[in-house]
Amino acid sequence: MKAAIFKEHGGPETIQIATVPDPKPDAGDVIVQVKACALNHLDLWVLKGGPAYPVGLPHVLGADVSGVIEAVGKGVSDLKRGQRVVIAPGVSCFQCDRCKAGQDNLCETYSILGAKLWGGYAEKVKVPAVNVFPIPDSLPFEEAAAFPLTFLTAWHMLVTRGGLKRWHYVLVVGASSGVGTAAIQIAKLHGAFVLATATSDEKLQQARALGADAVVDSSKDSIAHVARAWTQKRGVDIVFEHVGPATWDQSVGSLAPGGRLITCGATTGPEVKLDLRYVFSRELAILGARMGTRAELHDILSLIAAKKLRAKIAKTFPLADVRAALEYMEQRRHFGKIVLIP
Ligand SMILES: [Zn+2]
Repeated sequence: MKAAIFKEHGGPETIQIATVPDPKPDAGDVIVQVKACALNHLDLWVLKGGPAYPVGLPHVLGADVSGVIEAVGKGVSDLKRGQRVVIAPGVSCFQCDRCKAGQDNLCETYSILGAKLWGGYAEKVKVPAVNVFPIPDSLPFEEAAAFPLTFLTAWHMLVTRGGLKRWHYVLVVGASSGVGTAAIQIAKLHGAFVLATATSDEKLQQARALGADAVVDSSKDSIAHVARAWTQKRGVDIVFEHVGPATWDQSVGSLAPGGRLITCGATTGPEVKLDLRYVFSRELAILGARMGTRAELHDILSLIAAKKLRAKIAKTFPLADVRAALEYMEQRRHFGKIVLIP
């Protein structure tokens, strides 16, 4: 099969299209013929290399995959060749205490497809059968590939960690990202009020089109100032964070008493300052989120299939143009997901 592989860490220029042996299914595995694979910033971090994502080389990236089942391994009885499917990006053991407690995103051996196992930047991918979800014919492969990682993360942040309610005021920081576009839709689906931040008029307009009630250009205006004005000085109940130092003070400063800040990323750096007096006197909660659970993905897929939620696709590229696709993502000028088509 053809696959986009890299033999050394670096930038998009280190990736090349190569012919590699077809994957064979072990017991409990499924081979999926890839029809679409969405890009994530995670891919660039794995490609760059570092202690957080140790991978063997050569390696194939790609966490978000949809396709058609080509073969099933021994012991797989509920899936069959020819089925249209989407792949859950989180790989868990389903045997450890966390997994048994339904927190499979906190599994002792948790990994993400393409960040340990070979991923979907290829014509075929091998995954555990428990990671494979059938999808309806009405769901295009591009849209199926574009939703899992971002919608799962955003759902886990807002609904599970944030306890999202329909009367909540929600600040979505970095609305043009994949998780941001998912967060706006999930918050609106639950009836909450959404203030979205972005850094250009075009992106702000797209955030509004997705349902944001109000927007703020964070390159021009103070997010906290706008958030306070928007809530009649009250502040927001939930801040959806993944940017880090560049927006942190503004994000914390936007919270209402009892508010929750939930973060899933650190795009602009790993360290922030926090005034503890502010945290205890206002009873703020600072929460982390790592992907989400299999049960949450099941719920989200139902809503994607029913067209209640929809992954926004910025652009598709053929697999052969994988370098251009990654460079396009690096430039951060897009709104929504970038999808590779083998
Ligand atoms: Zn486990």
